[in-house]
Amino acid sequence: MSFSSLSNPELIKNSSFINGEWQQSQSNFDVFNPADQKSLGYVSEVTPEQLEKSINSAHAAQKEWRDKTVDERSAILRKWYDLILANQNDLASIMTAEQGKPRKEALGEVVYGAKYIEWYAEEAKRINGDYLPVNQNGRRALVLRRPVGVVTSITPWNFPGAMILRKAAPALAAGCTFIVKPSELTPYSALALAQLSAEAGIPAGVFNVVVGSNAQPIGEVLTTHPKVSKFSFTGSTQVGKKLLSQCASTVKKTSMELGGNAPFIAFEDADLDVAVKGAMGSKFRNAGQTCVCANRLFVHRDIHDEFVAKLKTKVEELKVGEGNQEGTNVGPLIDEKAIAKVEQLVAQAIETGAQIITGAGRSEAGQQFYLPTILTDVTPEMDIFNSEIFGPVASIISFESEEEVIKLANQTEYGLCSYAFTQNMNRVFRLTEQLEFGMLGINEGVLSNPAAPFGGVKESGMGREGGRWGIDDYLETKYVCIGDVK
Ligand code: ADP
Repeated sequence: MSFSSLSNPELIKNSSFINGEWQQSQSNFDVFNPADQKSLGYVSEVTPEQLEKSINSAHAAQKEWRDKTVDERSAILRKWYDLILANQNDLASIMTAEQGKPRKEALGEVVYGAKYIEWYAEEAKRINGDYLPVNQNGRRALVLRRPVGVVTSITPWNFPGAMILRKAAPALAAGCTFIVKPSELTPYSALALAQLSAEAGIPAGVFNVVVGSNAQPIGEVLTTHPKVSKFSFTGSTQVGKKLLSQCASTVKKTSMELGGNAPFIAFEDADLDVAVKGAMGSKFRNAGQTCVCANRLFVHRDIHDEFVAKLKTKVEELKVGEGNQEGTNVGPLIDEKAIAKVEQLVAQAIETGAQIITGAGRSEAGQQFYLPTILTDVTPEMDIFNSEIFGPVASIISFESEEEVIKLANQTEYGLCSYAFTQNMNRVFRLTEQLEFGMLGINEGVLSNPAAPFGGVKESGMGREGGRWGIDDYLETKYVCIGDVK
């Protein structure tokens, strides 16, 4: 795969986008295609001066952006949305090349991400305040909702487009300006979005992308600079904790969308076909590399063998391969480190008693391709139960009672997403109240939607992306008391 086949070659950019300009530097880093480990090209490292400039220009641009009418902001965002849709094929090609996901999933991500812009272009018109009753004559009390100011963010490689748009869309709609540092593994998708933001008429300084291979010093500036009001992160819990503590130095508002260890529970009364479909969607999408992937599949002992047999049939139908090949369902893992981690988790599980139903090894498709795998007899003592697998491995645990499985499901420091399959309405309500996760899918394996609040509890983070909750994260509440009113 190279970028020469794009219909809009203007989408390929190789440097940071700051204050409406492409900023080159003396040093570069390589970006690789995970399907064949070949270089896709070089991207300029952002310099400390350029980084400083990005914050100063975002700060300078914020007043004018904030003071535009909501209709103006909304129309510009809508234009960005239209341009992303018009370029969706090229954006999907870029994404598959640098991230590896199957083309169909890449196209799905491009449209899904764009939908957040469409949704928030509308929501910009509904940032309402309040007019409060007061306890004294001659007084009036107002509550305003104002943009927080300059927002910085760091995003991961597993959704190179949507993770940026889920933050940028509400931030810009609220009247904030925005700087993102995408993952060094997938900068091209972010830079293509920047090109389209300029074409859409988003003013200079309002949407900026800074790229660099050394995340730590860039992150330090983005989380400590006094002109930055808010920091939003999607990535691992380990890095998120560090960045959160850095934000404390200037008391920044923060949103953290961190790791997960999602339980998937199939009860004895589940519709087995629906449960298997849910497991396929929530486990094998993006080769298992999502923070909401089913990580522990709890299956009631009465349906265990039938569920495993049905799942095995579906899993063995999955086609592993390069994302652009016709029919590919499972692409490569992002890098050697990722595949080595999956191998280690599977090996430790097998050594301690897990059974292989299918897979459990690298695929012949190439160095970084892992076979879709099912393990049974997994126990809470195994590393695979307690770690985020981030690979196409379904680990199955048999259970006997609802009480037991709720306890086991909650036995994790994470609390992002959970799934349950049952026909029992009373049980559904018990689950909604007792599962300690920010999201719950009932008889459904793929939940995300621009109108809904995506986010976690416990060490999976804080803040929500999507819906009215998503824009709240970019707004301050200001109380105004007016006295001496005659
Ligand atoms: P993942 O497991 O998804 O790679 P990471 O948390 O390692 O999750 O990476 C998510 C994002 O955080 C990426 O953009 C990466 O460059 C960035 N990152 C990683 N380490 C640091 C750090 N020490 N400081 C700032 N950003 C970091």
